Amino acid sequence: MSHVTGTGGLVVCSPLRLEARAVRRGLGERGEVRRTGYGPARAAAAADQLREDAFGNLAVGGVGGGVSADLRPGDLVVSTEVSRLGSAVSVSCPSAPLLVGELRRAGLRATAGKLVTVDHLLRRGQAQRLAAQGALAADMESAMLLEGAAGRPAVALRAISDTPGRPLLSPWAVPGGVAALRSLRLAGPALGRWAAACAPRRVLLAGPRSFCAGVERAIEIVERVLDRHGPPVYVRKQIVHNKVVVTDLERRGAIFVDELDQVPEGAVVVFSAHGVSPEVRRAAKERGLDAIDATCPLVSKVHAEARRFAAEGYQVALIGHAGHEEVEGTLGEAPQAMTLVETAADVATLKPRDPGRVAYLMQTTLSADEASGIAGTLLERFPDARGPGSDDICYATTNRQLAIRAIAADSDVVLVAGSANSSNSRRLVETAQRAGTPAYLIDGAEDIELGWLAGASVVGLTAGASAPPAVIGQIVGALSGLGPVEVSERVVATESIRFGLPKELKR
Ligand code: SF4
Repeated sequence: MSHVTGTGGLVVCSPLRLEARAVRRGLGERGEVRRTGYGPARAAAAADQLREDAFGNLAVGGVGGGVSADLRPGDLVVSTEVSRLGSAVSVSCPSAPLLVGELRRAGLRATAGKLVTVDHLLRRGQAQRLAAQGALAADMESAMLLEGAAGRPAVALRAISDTPGRPLLSPWAVPGGVAALRSLRLAGPALGRWAAACAPRRVLLAGPRSFCAGVERAIEIVERVLDRHGPPVYVRKQIVHNKVVVTDLERRGAIFVDELDQVPEGAVVVFSAHGVSPEVRRAAKERGLDAIDATCPLVSKVHAEARRFAAEGYQVALIGHAGHEEVEGTLGEAPQAMTLVETAADVATLKPRDPGRVAYLMQTTLSADEASGIAGTLLERFPDARGPGSDDICYATTNRQLAIRAIAADSDVVLVAGSANSSNSRRLVETAQRAGTPAYLIDGAEDIELGWLAGASVVGLTAGASAPPAVIGQIVGALSGLGPVEVSERVVATESIRFGLPKELKR
């Protein structure tokens, strides 16, 4: 056994010999494993000793009984909070989502949730009652052991050996126990990475971040349509490119479809914030759909410019990314007069009928640096080319890029909350990386790889224009489970823009 107590390392408390052996085999030299004994009394005695000891962080690693019907033997439950049965007091473990994410990436089935510590094996019906109160699993030691952490980062990890459907006193007991011990062993490296990421740190928030006016408006439109018409409400494409937002609206009765032929005739359909081509509007009319348009007014402005330039006989280069819904919608405004330009090299391939009548427009969520570079190349080739009346890259994209630039250089790592299909969020990652700082796109705390945090004492944090502000709170909360967190904010601009709702919803 390696003894890291007193050197600021990890101590894992495992009540039983078999549990301790499994954890030790998985953890290796990454921490000390203590066998603390079965039941609440021994756990309380072990906690008294822990309070006296110098160590960095504490984990409980053992086997537990699942009370949720969703669990099966071998699943891992990471405590978000642990309470003693009948007690209103609980110990919270804010870093649980971080460890769950790490375990899942290691291929293990893991869930974050509430653990309850009981004094005796669960009696008939007790598991169901605990599940009804929101508990996932029960054990006989974790609540007491975690008190031994005395403010140091702590988490409890229980591998499920039995469930209400596969109880302890049944033929399932042995295979369930084997599956649990195997998972416990396999969880060892992730526990080690959790411990290595534990440290006090600063979180540097970029301001502005998160929702822009166009996204707020689009979400409000779906909510209002749901209130007015009741579910289901169909939405063509994701209303905004964010998993959390889409999942929440789905829960409330929105149905997201790829194309209009998936919408029943006569139903209400909302067009997403990214905009649609006139062709889609026509198709909606033909199907007798009640269409409500959540296109961001700043995207509509680019559509209007495309129509105007095309009507004046210009060949329009649209600087943007192929396949993005906004680009498809804008190109659809004047397909015969528009060409997509993704890179400076694409400029050389443009073959306008009249080199004196070239114009260019931009997708609203591009990197300002990159887009102006492409526009510069275009102007070199076509010095008379006309650009948009005012910037197509919207205020929200610009502000968020300026803000991340302001924090990236002072951060050891930058985390950007946003979904993989969110253009503006991906550009934020690239902006931070261009500043020389490792940067990662995450939907939420579970996506943070603990290896990114090891040695990172300043974490820069922002959210793309489609990511909800609550995600930032969840991420900061999860980081606070790894050690004390000092949060500060660097604000480069304040935003007060609001867009009105479509006229159908004002009535
Ligand atoms: S990022 Fe800009 S263009 Fe896109 S919805 Fe927000 S405000 Fe509108």
